[in-house]
Amino acid sequence: MENTENIIELKSISRTFADGFKAVEDFNLEVKRGEFVTFLGPSGCGKTTTLRMIAGFDLPTEGQILLDGKEISKLPPNERPINTVFQRYALFPHMNIFDNIAFGLKLKKLPKEEIKKKVKKVLELVDLEGFEKRSVSTLSGGQQQRVAIARALVNEPEILLLDEPLGALDLKMRKEMQLELKAMHDELGITFIYVTHDQEEALTMSDKIVVMNEGKIQQIGTPEDIYNEPQNAFVADFIGDSNIFNGIMTGSMTARFAGGEFRCVDDVPEGTRITAVVRPEDIEVVPTKEGQIRGKVTSVIFKGIHYEITVESGRYEVVIQSTKSADVGSEVGMKVEPDGIHIMIAEDDTNIFPVDMNKRHRLEFNGQELDTSLTQLIKGSHRNENHELINENGEVIDPDKIHVFCTIEPEDIRMTDDVDDEQVLVEGTISNLFYAGDHYSYVVNTEIGQDFIVYDEYLWNMGDRVGLILPSDKMRFSVKK
Ligand code: ADP
Ligand code: MG
Repeated sequence: MENTENIIELKSISRTFADGFKAVEDFNLEVKRGEFVTFLGPSGCGKTTTLRMIAGFDLPTEGQILLDGKEISKLPPNERPINTVFQRYALFPHMNIFDNIAFGLKLKKLPKEEIKKKVKKVLELVDLEGFEKRSVSTLSGGQQQRVAIARALVNEPEILLLDEPLGALDLKMRKEMQLELKAMHDELGITFIYVTHDQEEALTMSDKIVVMNEGKIQQIGTPEDIYNEPQNAFVADFIGDSNIFNGIMTGSMTARFAGGEFRCVDDVPEGTRITAVVRPEDIEVVPTKEGQIRGKVTSVIFKGIHYEITVESGRYEVVIQSTKSADVGSEVGMKVEPDGIHIMIAEDDTNIFPVDMNKRHRLEFNGQELDTSLTQLIKGSHRNENHELINENGEVIDPDKIHVFCTIEPEDIRMTDDVDDEQVLVEGTISNLFYAGDHYSYVVNTEIGQDFIVYDEYLWNMGDRVGLILPSDKMRFSVKK
């Protein structure tokens, strides 16, 4: 049945490129008429590819695109009531503003007077009235992008696609243009499909956000849904400054993570591996005795309405928002109410944990240097003669702004009862074990607050003291800024 409320429907769209790479996979989406929908995800997750299929510049290898309930997958771009504003605005530099905007209308052979009127109208809309005769080179980046938007709007599309349209602008200009675009959307009443990798931009502008990763939809929802109820660890990590901990259910409504035991509201079977998400505003700073976990305050920044307090707790850096300040260097307790803990069932048992780096920009874990250095992880980077880390553009990288995570599979970690073995990276105690068909799965609590999942074919006992060996060729590192 035709659904006229939806202007666009994508039904199981996939796009596999000639080299076999699947850039978009089983993408399902309904867009309501007049909605502001945003595709949000990291670079390379398939946002542009999806947009190009909606515009008609690319064809899906599978699935259908419906416009007002009618299949348009094979319709050429110029027969779709859709216009696109690209990441690079690509104005014609040798033409003035009028000619840039009128270009498409002239091709359509519209009467001169009508073209003039339409161009005037869209220039007003983007706040550039009277700019007809100006040349492109006299405009700022923000003004050029407005011309690009005007050029798309002059065709009176029903749907406007915007592919990272503000990506080239500086922060202040970007904020201004965000508000203007939102106002334009409300004024025009047409459907906007917007692409960005900036979560704040998505949260402030959209009616609906589609979070994507590796060609797949991770979650669709309102900004509030996405922020408050992330459906998986990827979404939680990508949106906002959440604290994310790996842990395990130690009872049906109690969870262990970050080296502490917490009551929660999600009823999940004991022994289940989980990811716990705690928003910074849901953590309370309390005297050490009253805390479920403890740590040392490493920084306090005043953010206007609240303080952002960072606490080092074992292996974890916990970020807290509080209306009360705290003293840097002091020991504090941290408390989270059950409803401030969002439990997600871990998709797999992969261990993920933060690693440190030392002055030589080599990675360290638990005070031991690893075989990898930061210059190997950041493309095009090197150390200069002042021992600074320099990126590919020759700029100094602030090591404090970089977080490195290590992932290692549970079957790749070895346990030994010889805790003094020099290969041992960290010691711990077995706190959970269950038989998983052809191997045992263990949870090892380490003294640094990070719990590890380890698979082993041999039976160990609860409470056994073990050393963990993490072979360097099995450790994978990723950098997060
Ligand atoms: P985004 O816009 O989210 O940054 P894209 O949609 O541009 O991502 O690209 C998604 C993935 O598809 C990337 O890994 C990119 O390298 C790959 N890709 C894009 N176009 C092609 C192509 N023509 N052939 C092969 N791979 C491609
Ligand atoms: Mg893109």
